[in-house]
Amino acid sequence: MTHIITSICLRDGACVEVCPVECIVPGYPEDEWPWFFIDPDTCIDCGACVPECPFEAIFVEEEVPDAYKMKPGQERIPFGGERYAAEGGEVVDLTPDIQPNYDFFAAGPGYDSAP
Ligand code: SF4
Ligand code: SF4
Repeated sequence: MTHIITSICLRDGACVEVCPVECIVPGYPEDEWPWFFIDPDTCIDCGACVPECPFEAIFVEEEVPDAYKMKPGQERIPFGGERYAAEGGEVVDLTPDIQPNYDFFAAGPGYDSAP
């Protein structure tokens, strides 16, 4: 299980400050992935980020509303990774183990300067 940031997110970064394992990062490039996301392999499901979000954009994976799940044929190419076309209804992990994620953590907080 993990927590999921939905497209309600407006990138204010409030959740980043409270995550004890620093697994919340901004989507990049912003025009392709305009919200933050949670690395599901690092998230410990502590729930600390949920009340911090002023827009109630964060859900436990099993409780993501249908309106915010990918639709059939909907596509995303986060972080320049593989194109993913949803078959419908599933909550998908769009956080590949790729260099930009490591670059972000190596650079520390300044997420606005993601490569
Ligand atoms: S549930 Fe906890 S560990 Fe997971 S993203 Fe939120 S604050 Fe971080
Ligand atoms: S606190 Fe909510 S709106 Fe702000 S970056 Fe996190 S998920 Fe997005």
